[in-house]
Amino acid sequence: MVDSNCIFCKIANGEIPSKTVYEDERFRAILDISPANRGHVIILAKNHAANIFEMSDEDASQVYVVAKKVATAMQKVLKFDGVNIMQNNGEIAGQTVFHHHMHVIPRYKNDKVTFEYEHLSEGDILGDEEVAQIRALAQG
Ligand code: 5GP
Ligand code: ZN
Repeated sequence: MVDSNCIFCKIANGEIPSKTVYEDERFRAILDISPANRGHVIILAKNHAANIFEMSDEDASQVYVVAKKVATAMQKVLKFDGVNIMQNNGEIAGQTVFHHHMHVIPRYKNDKVTFEYEHLSEGDILGDEEVAQIRALAQG
């Protein structure tokens, strides 16, 4: 489904033009308008989902395949040294556009991109009860 108020729905479905590096029946991959690094691409599903929780299993299972295709082609053209494939859910996690998108961010030796965080102590690892609860829910 498309959300008529969502800019990424409009871009994904071709209503707003974009620099497209890949398109199929479910996805469009475009150049990020404000790139973190040279060649930064975002992969948008044509169906609206605000985040991973709303996304269909079909789109969720295909988006990484698209990321692999795009990253492989980009690696050949841009000859980058590494690549971050990432995706933000929720404002606290850095999401600013609430239509699910996967970032493909090329990395070059000595670039200035950072995703650094401090590691917590061992005491912050989950307890067995939480692990069991999550596992029961995740496995259904
Ligand atoms: P988020 O922070 O939600 O994970 O990522 C949003 C990304 O979308 C940012 O990297 C931002 O530069 C990009 N972006 C926001 N609006 C537009 C737009 O209209 N066109 C394109 N191509 N990228 C956009
Ligand atoms: Zn949308």
